[in-house]
Amino acid sequence: MAQNNVVLHVADVHKRFGGLHALADIDLQIEEGKTHAIIGPNGAGKSTLLNVIIGKLAPTSGQVVFDGAILTGKKPFQINQLGIARVFQTPEIFADLSVLHNVMIPALAKRDGMFKLNMLRTLDSETGIRAEAEHMLEDVGLINRKDSIAGSLSRGDKRRMELAMCLIQHPRLLLLDEPTAGMSRHDTNTTIELLKKIKARGMTKVIIEHDMHVVFSLADKISVLAQGRIIADGTPDQVRGNPKVQEAYLGGAHE
Ligand code: ADP
Ligand code: MG
Repeated sequence: MAQNNVVLHVADVHKRFGGLHALADIDLQIEEGKTHAIIGPNGAGKSTLLNVIIGKLAPTSGQVVFDGAILTGKKPFQINQLGIARVFQTPEIFADLSVLHNVMIPALAKRDGMFKLNMLRTLDSETGIRAEAEHMLEDVGLINRKDSIAGSLSRGDKRRMELAMCLIQHPRLLLLDEPTAGMSRHDTNTTIELLKKIKARGMTKVIIEHDMHVVFSLADKISVLAQGRIIADGTPDQVRGNPKVQEAYLGGAHE
């Protein structure tokens, strides 16, 4: 019988930084269409794991397989081209360009293989991509800011813009590193609603998050990372009731 449509398999991954074992024995299977949350205290290795998946860091051993293709050894832009997009913990945007242009650039980069600086000159002639970018901005509730300079947006709005920059790539897998970090409760709730909308479209997502409200309202599955190891995984209810998790994370004084 087919395995529950595993789209991403992190297989026996280890990552060492000198003497520090930042990731140990990580085995993670992400199923198609699911929202899989990775939680854990500060320094647990969550961002390191995401960086290994997107090719920013090479694992010390083990490999990452996406849709049958081995990602390990590939460059971040090649992995992105295979259908993995990521919202970073610190937004990576073009601060001097308009919001609309920021959202158009990833679509152009995808179409043309890679982003080239001379694309900036042709942005305004790309009417098809412009229309799609406007559609994405409507989706994330930012259409009224499309002509604003991206650097002038609030932190929450930058996050929304970055989400639109990912969605326009129509990724098969969307990775989000603390998508609500630094947001007010109101912005957090708006983002949760937005992520639910994306979920309803069947997009597979991996969310790294320490806000329990976000995790429990979105995740189908949760893996708990502590000191570089997965100490528990399962449904939100299974994880919530796990004493090891409460000790390592939920009841701790972290974050
Ligand atoms: P989290 O995202 O869960 O807070 P990180 O993945 O950022 O944790 O970090 C896990 C551990 O690895 C931490 O102890 C951190 O200091 C260390 N670490 C992360 N990146 C590097 C790096 N590039 N070089 C050395 N140590 C690192
Ligand atoms: Mg982190």
